[in-house]
Amino acid sequence: MSARIEFGSEKKRARLHDPRKGFAEVDVESEVRRDPLTGNSARICHFALKATRPPDLGEIVRATREQCPFCPERIEGVTPRFAEELVPGGRLRRGGALVVPNLFPYDDVSAIAALCPEHFHAMDAMPERVVVDGLTAARDFLQLAARRFPDGGGYGIVTWNYMPPAGASQVHPHMQVVATADPGNALRRELVAAQGWRERYGRPYLEALLEAERAGPRWVGEQGGIAWLVPFAPSGLLGDAMAVFPGRAAVTELSDADIAGFANGLVRILGGFAAHGLWSFNLCLMPDAFGAGADRQWLVARLLPRFYLNPVLHISDASYMHLLLEERFAMIHPEEVAARLRDAWSGVAEG
Ligand SMILES: [Zn+2]
Repeated sequence: MSARIEFGSEKKRARLHDPRKGFAEVDVESEVRRDPLTGNSARICHFALKATRPPDLGEIVRATREQCPFCPERIEGVTPRFAEELVPGGRLRRGGALVVPNLFPYDDVSAIAALCPEHFHAMDAMPERVVVDGLTAARDFLQLAARRFPDGGGYGIVTWNYMPPAGASQVHPHMQVVATADPGNALRRELVAAQGWRERYGRPYLEALLEAERAGPRWVGEQGGIAWLVPFAPSGLLGDAMAVFPGRAAVTELSDADIAGFANGLVRILGGFAAHGLWSFNLCLMPDAFGAGADRQWLVARLLPRFYLNPVLHISDASYMHLLLEERFAMIHPEEVAARLRDAWSGVAEG
């Protein structure tokens, strides 16, 4: 059976009498799409919203600087140390990044990577060095932590909540690095679906996806072998993006060149979203298990810009729809998001 990606979608039409048009009868269109791998549905609707300009981030930066636990004059004194058997010396430094235990752990092995000495970097000016140092430190830490799972079944997950709309409790750039046997519901379901795909078609789903999407309306670009595109079934209200690491299953397998290529692509994409008024995001590197090999599922990074629907009222962009029904929705078509990101991508390349 050939591995054909199905991009399933259905248009919906709500009929109503619109008071803004003298109560004329109108049809309001929305769309439901299905993720080609998992079948998860996502909606595209309510196209009126645009991101507003960010608030005065200077004020947020100033107010948090004085007590920041990750700033250089404080980090050694207020962050914990690992047990020697996990991390010799208690902490792991790579360039400007420092990996320390999370004082509020999520699992047996739960770390924070403070990415840089600087307290703040704007989303449209994130230095590649910050991403490279952070991911290098996370990779090297996970290589130590993976030894806790000698029989497989462990997952090394790297996430980044950037700025308060994304749930970050610290402004200072930092990632969470967790090694766990319990990778979370979304990743577990995705891996089950990827396993099924592999068994049906004899190759990784993401290989087929890249073939289907390359140079199409949702394709953004490729850097250092790492491909960036916008998912067919969206997850962000104002867009999202994903990066695929061909032939790599886990963060622990990344070479220095992979990390450099990813960092270069990521800062372009961040700049592309920032150019449309966004100033916060979640990033999650979703792996297969340590030592799984790249036959089942390749490593994916998912980037989800976050914002306040109304910055004065602090209206969150997550609601019952996301948290209770597990239904994503977007206010912009993925193809339009990709077009915007392609502009930003080539702009940097020329500059
Ligand atoms: Zn700081």
